[in-house]
Amino acid sequence: MDRRKFLKSAAVGGVATAAFTTNLYARSTKRLKVCLSWPKTLPIMGEGALWFAKRVEELSGGSLKIHIYGANELVPALQVFDACSKGLIDGFHSGPYYWKGKNMAFALFSSFPFGMVADELEPWFDFAGGMDLWRKLYARYNLIPFKGGNTGNQMGGWFRKPIKSLADMKGLKMRIPGLGGEMMARIGVKPVNIPGGEIYTALERGVIDATEWVGPSLDLIMGFEKVAKYYYTGWHEPGSILEMTFNKRKFSSLAKEHQAIIEAATKEMHARIFSQFQYQNAVKLQELLNGKYDVVLGNFPDDVKKAAKKAIISILQEYSAKSKDFAMVYDNIKSFFPEMRKWTDTLPKWYLDTRDSGIIVD
Ligand code: CA
Repeated sequence: MDRRKFLKSAAVGGVATAAFTTNLYARSTKRLKVCLSWPKTLPIMGEGALWFAKRVEELSGGSLKIHIYGANELVPALQVFDACSKGLIDGFHSGPYYWKGKNMAFALFSSFPFGMVADELEPWFDFAGGMDLWRKLYARYNLIPFKGGNTGNQMGGWFRKPIKSLADMKGLKMRIPGLGGEMMARIGVKPVNIPGGEIYTALERGVIDATEWVGPSLDLIMGFEKVAKYYYTGWHEPGSILEMTFNKRKFSSLAKEHQAIIEAATKEMHARIFSQFQYQNAVKLQELLNGKYDVVLGNFPDDVKKAAKKAIISILQEYSAKSKDFAMVYDNIKSFFPEMRKWTDTLPKWYLDTRDSGIIVD
């Protein structure tokens, strides 16, 4: 290469490098504060948020750092929405149904009793309008949500006394948030919403008689089996979506690359948390079935299930009449769900055939 050509190509290279560095790496490191509605040591969920922060740092070459604060470290567990909306913190990892007091439509983004399961919720969010509606409603609070995990189907909860019929539910104080709580209220339960970290003590002291939380994966880590012996399967949260939500103005002010990194890392975290829940639920359910704990595992009696189903149908209708936002989201779900369910219905058919014939497991 002659000298003139070399100088020319070096100059082109120099321009390209300069453009790249001013684009991302030459900027000073951006730091974001993200608060959780649970302890950061909580397996799967808290650990998932810490994993997200690490992933963002890796993908951004250290130019974007997320500091994770556990529940109550910086902001009380259930005040993260307000704090982020006001810009006091930059993001939060929580669940949309905690904010139904602000807009009852938010509860629908968490999944609702007898509603869509995880396999159905995911395509609804990604391709059938769910995410657009969620972002549209959160934008009023200066927030932009991302999916932050899916718990899969949740267990119905832990009870200090056995539930033999609907009459046994009457007057029980139970920790159960969202539309599940409203449904339980209609069948005689007194629902309360307390953050995850405070449930064990409330149950142990008899402040509450029962609680739901997630499933065997996390419930056994919380130690609920020590203070409530009866554990029932559930239909109140068929596939709850968690959220990793950011202050919208703050998010918009980030470099496009950083925005894309957050979007990619939330998707990885979301998939990771769902997968881990499914895995750990299977492992811990087997421990329960093996009799490792002094727990009576069962299903709610039929009259409880029947009354609960009737209750949620009337709640969904009443809220649709009361709130335009709720009706907008619920109508969207109703327009999508029948087609989706025809497809997911094919699963139990071949799954049961396979199980009964022992092709995979004998
Ligand atoms: Ca729950």
